[in-house]
Amino acid sequence: MPDERNVSVSSDFYEKMGEDVKISDVQNVMETLVEEHLDKIMEGSGVCTCDYCRADIKALALNKLPARYASRLEGNLITRVDNMRRQASTDVIAAIMEAVNTVGTNPRHEPRK
Ligand SMILES: [Zn+2]
Repeated sequence: MPDERNVSVSSDFYEKMGEDVKISDVQNVMETLVEEHLDKIMEGSGVCTCDYCRADIKALALNKLPARYASRLEGNLITRVDNMRRQASTDVIAAIMEAVNTVGTNPRHEPRK
């Protein structure tokens, strides 16, 4: 198990990674968590699952949640996601369900028959 308190990266780590890897390469961990739950919740709710509605619901849900960025270069992104999953799953699911209700009652396109 890596020690999570030790997140500093030695300079030779970057040398091993090569020059094509940028320090600014970060990922919003919340987006990963939203993606994990999005399709299942949408299918379960019976909301329209077209690309427009899916993107709207994802954007709305992410706007309700605090962004949590993690550097891919820290090498412990998976650990971060696992910790976040435990802490934030309830919030993530609630935000998605709220977004599903909002988009479901007011889709950008005409309701399907
Ligand atoms: Zn739709």
